[in-house]
Amino acid sequence: MRVFFSLGSNLGEKKALLDEAVSSINRKVGKVISRSSFYETEPWGFQSEHSFYNICCCCETTLSPLEVLTVTQGIEKEMGRKKKSVHKHYQDRCIDIDLLFCDDAVIDTERLTIPHPLLQKRLFVLEPLNEIAPTMEHPVLHQTVQELLAALRQSSKPNKE
Ligand code: AMP
Repeated sequence: MRVFFSLGSNLGEKKALLDEAVSSINRKVGKVISRSSFYETEPWGFQSEHSFYNICCCCETTLSPLEVLTVTQGIEKEMGRKKKSVHKHYQDRCIDIDLLFCDDAVIDTERLTIPHPLLQKRLFVLEPLNEIAPTMEHPVLHQTVQELLAALRQSSKPNKE
């Protein structure tokens, strides 16, 4: 199975932390077959003076989606993210790893929603994802990553008048 991840960091040595997370994914989840460049973005959903770096990567794994989540949560913990977001309050984090797609699986359980429910609303996810998987089709929305990105760019443009 191919799993696509979104990774973000807004504290400390951000690029080094993202590199470290990708190498942990490579070691513990499966071979990383592609990764995007770094994107610098403003915090989304909360106020912070610290900007984010975001990337996407894809790995080939024999683990199940839930096993992948368990491993990536272990990586987050190991890398020092002590508290998870509580009651939807976002906060600074040294590393955040989200699962975006697991092939064309559609999963909706308490612990895991695949495709990631907010991916089509976040430029900081779609921009790096478009670098590595522009023609990948969203299994529920039936639009490709490049179509989702074009639609989001269009809707987030300020009105001309
Ligand atoms: P956050 O702290 O904002 O990264 O949220 C993590 C929580 O979201 C965890 O409790 C996960 O079980 C849950 N979750 C649901 N779907 C996903 C997904 N696609 N990727 C990562 N975490 C997920």
